[in-house]
Amino acid sequence: MKKEQKYFRGCLVGGAVGDALGWPVEFLKYQEIVKKYGSEGIKDLDLGNKKLAEITDDTQMTMFTAEGLLRAATSCSEKEEKKGEDKLPSVIFHAYQRWLVTQGYNTGILKELDGWLINVSKLHEQRAPGNTCLSALKSGKMGTIEQPINNSKGCGGVMRVAPVGLFCSRESAFQIGCESAAITHGHPSGYLSAGALAYLIACIIEGMEIEEAVTASLEELKKHNGHEECSSLLEKAIALSRDNTEPLTALSQLGEGWVGEETLAIAVYCSLKEKNDFKKALLISVNHDGDSDSTGAVTGNILGAYLGIDAIPAPWVQKVEFAELLIELADDLLTGYQDTEEWKSKYPGW
Ligand SMILES: [Mg+2]
Repeated sequence: MKKEQKYFRGCLVGGAVGDALGWPVEFLKYQEIVKKYGSEGIKDLDLGNKKLAEITDDTQMTMFTAEGLLRAATSCSEKEEKKGEDKLPSVIFHAYQRWLVTQGYNTGILKELDGWLINVSKLHEQRAPGNTCLSALKSGKMGTIEQPINNSKGCGGVMRVAPVGLFCSRESAFQIGCESAAITHGHPSGYLSAGALAYLIACIIEGMEIEEAVTASLEELKKHNGHEECSSLLEKAIALSRDNTEPLTALSQLGEGWVGEETLAIAVYCSLKEKNDFKKALLISVNHDGDSDSTGAVTGNILGAYLGIDAIPAPWVQKVEFAELLIELADDLLTGYQDTEEWKSKYPGW
């Protein structure tokens, strides 16, 4: 069992580090990355002129997923319900509406702009937010698996659901991961990739070895309608991690990571390929033609949960934006509801 601070922290801070590492090269082709950063590509956090390495929408939305889960914990504890998992998606939808407010749009469906994250002024910055997330949330409607809001399979779902795997049991992680993503992404590959990631992280937290956790997640994925595209690419990622294909060639066979199944497959490939070396895995995960911040973020989530925060290079933890906030969120996900005034003002229920 890995229900310990260091793995929870590793998952969230690892994701942020991957996001920050990939952000400067998100829109660059591999040849452009090499031209800018040298023959091995980007090898370190690029601070630019800033003191901290900026995170993007991937990490912002991951924080709001965590906040949704924690606010649900408050509501359920006060009402002495169980975890109230059937209500989790709508609480997470409200959390995403708060994120939308940080991006400058208020649909008016939130009664109050209360709680912790929305009042963190530094979160009110646009870092290339995904169009699908923005347009789905701006509609004010909550997408579900049964009533898809669109037919998008962008990676905006999978990139934000890691906290579900930390907070929910393995039995519910897949479903809640899917439903969290289906709020904005209606294509099966858009939400099943998220379910598979949440399940994978829940398995890792249960103490499984990474190969075993990936296999379990693939088996679970195959039980769901419309899994074929996602599961076949995941199988390809597993196979590539076991042969001698060069990482760059392997990644090109898995796509660019702009869509859910590709982001998941690339992150799983990198995590299996360099399962004991967080830094090496992250460098592979961002140095390619595609959506480097999202593939970096998800790889960081997986390996951070598997190896723990101590496996992340210390200078990266020190330099990544919001590390302290992410550590606090991770610790709150671990402890769960606390009957204190501080907790209730941070997470005032839905
Ligand atoms: Mg991003």
